[in-house]
Amino acid sequence: MSDPAPRAPRASGAPVLAVDIGGTKMAAAVVEPGGRIAEYDRIATPADPALDAEGLWRTLEALLDKVGAAAGRPRFAGVGVGCGGPMTWPAGEVSPLNIPAWRGFPLRERLRERHPGLPVRVHNDAVCVAVGEHWLGAGQGMENVLGMVVSTGVGGGLILDGVLIDGARGNAGHIGHVIVDPEGPPCKCGGRGCLEAVARGPGLVAWAQEEGWRTGRDDVTGVDLAADARRGHPVAVAALRRAGRALGIAIASATHLCDLQVVAIGGGLSQAGALLFDPLEEALRTYARMEYARQVMVVPTALGQTSGLIGAAALIFESDRYWGAG
Ligand SMILES: [Zn+2]
Repeated sequence: MSDPAPRAPRASGAPVLAVDIGGTKMAAAVVEPGGRIAEYDRIATPADPALDAEGLWRTLEALLDKVGAAAGRPRFAGVGVGCGGPMTWPAGEVSPLNIPAWRGFPLRERLRERHPGLPVRVHNDAVCVAVGEHWLGAGQGMENVLGMVVSTGVGGGLILDGVLIDGARGNAGHIGHVIVDPEGPPCKCGGRGCLEAVARGPGLVAWAQEEGWRTGRDDVTGVDLAADARRGHPVAVAALRRAGRALGIAIASATHLCDLQVVAIGGGLSQAGALLFDPLEEALRTYARMEYARQVMVVPTALGQTSGLIGAAALIFESDRYWGAG
C-alpha cells in the first residue's frame, strides 16, 4: 500500500501532525522536523460505554483541530499515528483492546480523507515508543534497540541494524507475549505464562491481592502498588520483584535472539525505579550468559510521555528507517 502523495522532503521544514491513541489517553502534537514538539494537547480517552465508533472519531477530530489551530494551522508534511493494537497493518484498521468502541475502525483511511494528499502512517503505539527512543531518546546512536512499554499491557518494538523491524504483518517486537513461565497465569491472548500475563499492572495487582495486599479501594492500579512498594510493603515489593524478574527473563531471551545493545523501558510501571529495575537486572545477569548478551544495557526511556508522539512523527520524517510499508 502506498501513500497518496510523494514523501515530503525533510528540507521543507513542514511539521508533522503526530497522534498517540491509547486506552487511557489520546494525545496529539505538532512536531517539527528535528523532533521538537511545537504544540501538544491530550484528553482522557472517553470511557462512556454508550459512545460509538463515530463519537470517538469526532472526539479525536476535535483534539486534532485544537492542536492544529494552536500551531497556526500549518501545512503538514504528513500524519503519523501510534495506536493501541491489534490492527491490520499497514492498512491501519484498528481494534484496540482497551478501546471497545473501535473494532476494525479504518483509522488510516479516515485520516487520509481528513488530510487529502498527505502521507498518513499508522503503527502500533509501543512500536512508536521504540522508534521515538531510537530516533531521539535512550537508543539514539545505537543500531540494535528494543523499546518496551510496561503498564496495563506490555508492548514493544524492535530496531535491528538501524531500521524498524515490522515482520510479516507489522507485529514484530511483541515481547509481551514471549513466554516467561509455561505454567504461569493465563494471558488475554489465549496463551499462558506470557510476560504480559505476569508483569502487566492489573496482573501484578491481582497477584498481590491474592497474597494479602489490601488498600481498602477497588480501583487500584500498578501505580498504587509501586507506591506501596516504595513505602516498604512486603507484598508490594514482592510483586514488583516478580515483574522485574519476568522482564529480565524475557529480555535475556530477546537479547540472545537479536544481539541487542539497549533495551529502553517506559510506561507507568517503569516509574517504580530500582524496585523494578534491580530484580530485572538480577534475572537478566542470571540468564543472559553469552558474552555478547552480557553487554546489553537496560534503561528507562529518555523521552517520557512523549516517546510515542516523537516516534509517530518519525514514521513521516524518517521513513527510510521506520516505515517499511511504502
Ligand atoms: Zn499472551
